[in-house]
Amino acid sequence: MIYLDNAATSFPKPRGVIEEQMRCMRQYCGNPGRGAHRLSLAAAEKIYACRELIADTFGASAERVCFTQNTTTALNIAIKGLLCEGDHVLISDMEHNAVYRPVARLASEGRITYDVFPTFPLSPDRSTARICTAIAHLIRPNTKMLICAHASNICSATLPIKEIGALCHKKGILFVVDAAQSAGHLPIDVTKMRIDALCVPGHKGLLGPQGCGFVVWGEDVSADTLIEGGSGFHSLDAQMPEEAPERFEAGTLPTPAIAGLCEGIREVREIGLEAVERHERELNERLFAMLSTLPDLCICAPLHRGSILSFVCDRIPSDRLAAELDRRGFCVRAGFHCSALGHRTLQTPDGGALRVSPGIYTKSTDIDAFFHAMREILT
Ligand code: PMP
Repeated sequence: MIYLDNAATSFPKPRGVIEEQMRCMRQYCGNPGRGAHRLSLAAAEKIYACRELIADTFGASAERVCFTQNTTTALNIAIKGLLCEGDHVLISDMEHNAVYRPVARLASEGRITYDVFPTFPLSPDRSTARICTAIAHLIRPNTKMLICAHASNICSATLPIKEIGALCHKKGILFVVDAAQSAGHLPIDVTKMRIDALCVPGHKGLLGPQGCGFVVWGEDVSADTLIEGGSGFHSLDAQMPEEAPERFEAGTLPTPAIAGLCEGIREVREIGLEAVERHERELNERLFAMLSTLPDLCICAPLHRGSILSFVCDRIPSDRLAAELDRRGFCVRAGFHCSALGHRTLQTPDGGALRVSPGIYTKSTDIDAFFHAMREILT
């Protein structure tokens, strides 16, 4: 089996991640923050260690790190907790449905309005200045928030979040970043990039287990809650506490998943982001060069920066291609990858595209084997 679906979730997980989850469940899986006994304290200690590691990795303070179930929950907390009636929002034309649907829903209820800004993934004239100018043209007096993915989940396009963050800061607009495809792949600093809410999965580039993600809030951001419930302190109050992180973490946290995530982040830091980026870029370039020699294939927005590559085959729909590849032992994803906007922007046909997403453990020989399988299927 060769796994090339790391954009959906990373696989395999490092041994340390698996072992720490097991150790947690065997030795210290009390309910964190819900008691003063030794197992509760041990679980809380592990969670705090993970918060500190995340804070250090993304340039924030530990109490600004709030654990969630995944990126989608993190985005919903940020979007619905920060927007008010009458606000205007900007989103990019490459957004995942985890951004598009909450925004579209608020708009369909008449609570907000939104515009989609272009990011020109197909244009040879794509530049930071062009993207920032397009954003500036769409800003209105009531524009409250800009939300964008740092890296696309369909092709290897990334967005210049440092420059977009600076523009938002200058215009007094909240900046929410979907880092589902960039955390653990590209450097991110919430403070330096002027990010007000960074939404991150634990289970993709950070190599953690499924079941946890997080929001990292910017320094002066205060948001409403999406859900309410037990926080482990101020138990006699009818309202959620004002303080982050507990304000946004109603209910029991997934301690084993967070314990595993801690090891995943350690592994990424040990390998080093530069090495991750270099490795994935090399694989992407190799794959691009090989697939370019095959007839009837069109690669979507090739050769930007990340590791993901999608393509369309004129003769075979993407789901049939994925099934053929699965029979030969390759795990890839077909269809629309939960991104109505991205596929519209990339002008993919009715059957969507086939996505190949190598990860840090993918070898160049895996890419070669994938190419040979594709050549076999197409000839
Ligand atoms: N945003 C992007 C860009 C993604 O690629 C994904 C996952 N495919 C998500 C959001 C949603 O992530 P999660 O499954 O962790 O909620």
